[in-house]
Amino acid sequence: MQTYPDIKLFINGEWRDAIGGETIPVSDPATEEVIGKIAHARKADLDLALEAADKGFKIWRDTSAFERSKLMRKAADILRSRADDIAWLMTREQGKPLAQSKMETMGAADTIDWFAEEARRTYGQIIPARFGGVSNMALKFPVGPVAAFTPWNFPINQIVRKLSAALSTGCSIIVKAPEETPASPAELIRAFADAGVPAGVVNLVYGIPAEISEYLIPHPVIRKISFTGSTPIGKHLAALAGKHMKRATMELGGHAPAIIFDDADLEKAIEVTAAAKFRNAGQVCVAPTRFLVQEGIADRFMDGFVKATEALKVGNGLEDGVTMGPLANERRIPAMEDMIHDAVSKGAVLKTGGKRIGNKGHFFEPTVLADVPTSAKIMNDEPFGPIAIVNRFSHLDDAIAEANRLPFGLASYAFTGSVKTAHALGRQVEAGMLTINHNGLAIPEVPFGGVKDSGYGTEGGSEAVEAYLETRFVSQMN
Ligand code: NAD
Repeated sequence: MQTYPDIKLFINGEWRDAIGGETIPVSDPATEEVIGKIAHARKADLDLALEAADKGFKIWRDTSAFERSKLMRKAADILRSRADDIAWLMTREQGKPLAQSKMETMGAADTIDWFAEEARRTYGQIIPARFGGVSNMALKFPVGPVAAFTPWNFPINQIVRKLSAALSTGCSIIVKAPEETPASPAELIRAFADAGVPAGVVNLVYGIPAEISEYLIPHPVIRKISFTGSTPIGKHLAALAGKHMKRATMELGGHAPAIIFDDADLEKAIEVTAAAKFRNAGQVCVAPTRFLVQEGIADRFMDGFVKATEALKVGNGLEDGVTMGPLANERRIPAMEDMIHDAVSKGAVLKTGGKRIGNKGHFFEPTVLADVPTSAKIMNDEPFGPIAIVNRFSHLDDAIAEANRLPFGLASYAFTGSVKTAHALGRQVEAGMLTINHNGLAIPEVPFGGVKDSGYGTEGGSEAVEAYLETRFVSQMN
């Protein structure tokens, strides 16, 4: 039988306890049982990680791109071969159904492979010169040691995009992984260690997020940061990065509109959006939140969507047949209750759900609210949980105005049978990602990122590699 391990820091190629011996408990969100503990890094541990990342960078940047690529693909194979055990750890610490944990782990291996291939294609340029005998060269170099800060909703996936992009270019990295869900990220790092990535190239720490970011971001060894989390924290860290002139990628909150037109394939729209809404109990930055449904189809959409919501089986993600697990931590329950209460008090209609389930484990009913006024908190703040808002609209322009009303601009969804409408949305919706008539988001080869308050930079596609490179220019006369 598999047991949940105690988790150590990984610094300079060694799994180690914190110097001060401090630990942080880890609990299972389905049972509230304490299942393990993690080593809690303080400044002395971070100094070792910084020294290791500095040394690791010098080794890794001088390792050929072909060799880096080979080691990365080996790590991907190791991860795949351990996916069942890793999925079990992820479900215990994060709560999501086992099948979703396995999919996340296998998806991570795919991401590593994709970036491993890109490692061999970080081309520079030769620029035609104005004068004879001159070669103008734009050369690409890895930016340097990276500090990555990642949240608990996708314990592996949030790390693997930063880690793979960094390693593909020759950067070393210190990952500050989520304290709530630490074991599956440790297994991701172990796959790289076991693949033979040199000591110091990949380092893993846990602790107090603010203490670690305030120390690492200004530190001269760190040249780039990448953060995934809420917009307020992202703004704070981006300001700190700016103050110290560090490159930054910010993947922040969203409040995705899902616009469903009268001419949409109704069944498909319901199936795709319900799956996207309640996956991972809605704790997904790209989850659809504001469903904007055109009047002619609105009643039928609501019936079908409520049925799909009520068909979900909520329970411990380790049990067969469970399609939605608990919320990942206790603080999300009052956050859900507060948003629902506020919306209903302002006139929203509760169609289904709305309450915590039981009193052990952080289970919450999948919830649908209708006719929610824009004054409600949930229409403005990211719910980050299993709540869908279904409102109506008449004309395309009204839907676009509502989609663009908020300062967020991460994901957006639309369902329409009209090519003309689809083109209008593509041009006018202010979002980093728009997926029309299917869910095509979050695969390694396409951009993944936001605009406006949802951040900057992308964590997918070739631009994700570019984010870890700097361009230097050399002009040479023969
Ligand atoms: P939070 O804002 O306290 O933390 C969000 C994440 O940021 C956590 O992983 C946390 O460890 C990290 N963090 C917080 N302060 C930090 C700091 N000073 N330096 C470095 N890292 C820091 O909130 P929470 O209760 O964990 O989650 C609530 C909100 O966060 C959600 O409503 C959602 O908007 C956002 N969130 C977004 C994502 C995402 O995928 N974009 C993931 C998790 C949480």
